[in-house]
Amino acid sequence: MKNYDYLVVGAGLFGATFAYEAAKRGKRVKVIEKDDHISGHIYTEEKDGIQVHKFGAHIFHTSIKKTWDFVQQFAEFNRYTNEPVANYKGELYNLPFNMNTFNKMWGVVTPAEAKAKIEEQRKVLGDKRPENLEEQAISLIGTDIYEKLIKGYTEKQWGRKATELPAFIIRRLPVRYIYDNNYFNDTYQGIPIGGYTQIVEKMLADPLIDVELNQDFFAKKADYLATYPRIVFTGMIDQFFDYQLGELEYRGLRFEEEALDVDNYQGNAVINYTDAETPYTRIIEHKHFEFGKGDKNKTIITREYPENWQRGDEPYYPVNDKRNNGLFKQYRELASSQPNVIFGGRLGQYKYYNMDQVIEAAQKIVTREFGDTEA
Ligand code: UDP
Repeated sequence: MKNYDYLVVGAGLFGATFAYEAAKRGKRVKVIEKDDHISGHIYTEEKDGIQVHKFGAHIFHTSIKKTWDFVQQFAEFNRYTNEPVANYKGELYNLPFNMNTFNKMWGVVTPAEAKAKIEEQRKVLGDKRPENLEEQAISLIGTDIYEKLIKGYTEKQWGRKATELPAFIIRRLPVRYIYDNNYFNDTYQGIPIGGYTQIVEKMLADPLIDVELNQDFFAKKADYLATYPRIVFTGMIDQFFDYQLGELEYRGLRFEEEALDVDNYQGNAVINYTDAETPYTRIIEHKHFEFGKGDKNKTIITREYPENWQRGDEPYYPVNDKRNNGLFKQYRELASSQPNVIFGGRLGQYKYYNMDQVIEAAQKIVTREFGDTEA
């Protein structure tokens, strides 16, 4: 074995960002990945000239210029703006919650009319400070929108009652009193032309980095710990510690991909099904992430089904409620007994990170590890 300075466990966005920055500073890095492909859940694959997001829609957005400039090095981004549409039993509404939504729901035309409507509906809460997702949602946009666009979607997405979910999840979505369907408030937004996989490929292309796929860290954990001076671990922190303090909860997903001989199946990249009965939460039509892409009369769609997660399944979302956050804190304390292991990413830090936040979290670790030295 070469004298590696770092072992990075997991070739997703966190691991790749760290490996890239370490190599830039002359460090030798070994990256191991349990799957047969790099780039984790941002993995995209070309089919029929269409970039298919294999693990769900990924739209890059950030307000931090440094992060935006960083990703531009690895791909050219298009000007895609996410404007998902909600389908509630055949009624269509614009998302996020904005004047178009309010107009369709209530016929209101001015922001003042919309505000008055919401003000009236949120009275059901009295003076209560919102303590869970349901109360937070009603407090933000009233009962009608909560019932039609949030309750069903949220309860199938998370597999539990909206009253038992943390309020922060719904605050991911903007509420706006203007006619603007942009799902994000961030300054910069787009999708890499040619897909996400190339980004991670380029990050890992440095000759100081070696990547090995299909490697199970846990099969040789003791060896790895004994051999590598520093390890960046981006898997599940509770699994790293053999679940000794208990199990953290995750939410699973299943993707059902279908190729269709039509040019345009649904007319938008993302359509959410917000009723409780439809078993999937959304359908994405990949070609609409990139304009004019793909063969005529061919399209690829993916239905996204939320699933209960159990040990051994692929984890997608951390469930950041009180119990799990408390347990994670205990694992983090336990992690101080492993000063040579850095935990990172959605799973290692047990945080509902977006892509930009993953990069920022990795850069923070890079600064801590190497100081502010840039190669
Ligand atoms: N959400 C909803 N209705 C929608 C879309 C989102 O109620 O049509 C809620 C739901 O609780 C979801 C949360 O908002 O979990 C965050 O949505 P986001 O689109 O940010 O989720 P992601 O794309 O990360 O799954």
